[in-house]
Amino acid sequence: MDRITISDLEVFAFHGVLKEENVLGQKFMVSAQLYTDISEAAKEDDITKSINYADVCKNIELFLTKNTYQLIETTAERLAIHLLKIYPRIDKIILELKKPWAPILMTLDTVSVIIERGWHQVYLSIGSNMGDKEANLKEAIRLLEEDEDCSVENVSSFVITKPFGGVEQDDFLNAALKLKTLKSPSELLTLINRIETALKRERIIHWGPRTIDLDILLYDSVVIQTDTLTIPHLYMTDREFVLQPLSEIAPWVKHPIYGETILQLWNHLKKN
Ligand code: ADP
Ligand code: MG
Repeated sequence: MDRITISDLEVFAFHGVLKEENVLGQKFMVSAQLYTDISEAAKEDDITKSINYADVCKNIELFLTKNTYQLIETTAERLAIHLLKIYPRIDKIILELKKPWAPILMTLDTVSVIIERGWHQVYLSIGSNMGDKEANLKEAIRLLEEDEDCSVENVSSFVITKPFGGVEQDDFLNAALKLKTLKSPSELLTLINRIETALKRERIIHWGPRTIDLDILLYDSVVIQTDTLTIPHLYMTDREFVLQPLSEIAPWVKHPIYGETILQLWNHLKKN
């Protein structure tokens, strides 16, 4: 992917573990690789379709002088997240923060941290079969959108589906949605659990009625299995109520284990 690169931007700031560093300050140097698609801006010679690097440099300086952290690790992390949030065109950033005057009573060229941070592409499944189902889905989507580390990019239509798992209960209303997030998979699970609690979901019967159920289906091409999280979602390929809405918004996305597209998986399931 295209990149805009900034090398060794100098900023005088006050980060450091020693209190002298917080008082006297020192020089920091920032290098950043901003991953962004510049083809349109390049073709049309139009800066509004790119990222203004002068503006980025000013914002880096402002952020580093307005905040003071002990660790360059924290400083780099917060700066990277800040830039990703204020410039939606940046998909990923590789950021190096150098401290050439690090006070260790020895001579060195520079000490630095290099981090890579970016937006993750996630697909969620969402369902409700209690109360005002449509309002429940909409409220859950609103709460996702409200989180500053998340942006809802697409929502499928809401489909009415029959309950799954043999428990006698009302029909479900289901949907799939595409989310851009800065959260890790476990942080995202914490958020969806919080939204389920906010919407007063009670876990009474396994696969029983619920005001809201939010599941992580896909997270980039990541494969994870822990005690609390399995990604891709373990049952997504067996469930019509997942694949039907998902195939509407992600027909060509491939399942990272089966290697088949969502549309292929949905067609297989329909035939069985
Ligand atoms: P289900 O979604 O299968 O109907 P629950 O919503 O009650 O069941 O989920 C129970 C637990 O499943 C959650 O507390 C969570 O820790 C775990 N879990 C494992 N993988 C996932 C995933 N991909 N998305 C959401 N929850 C998951
Ligand atoms: Mg669930």
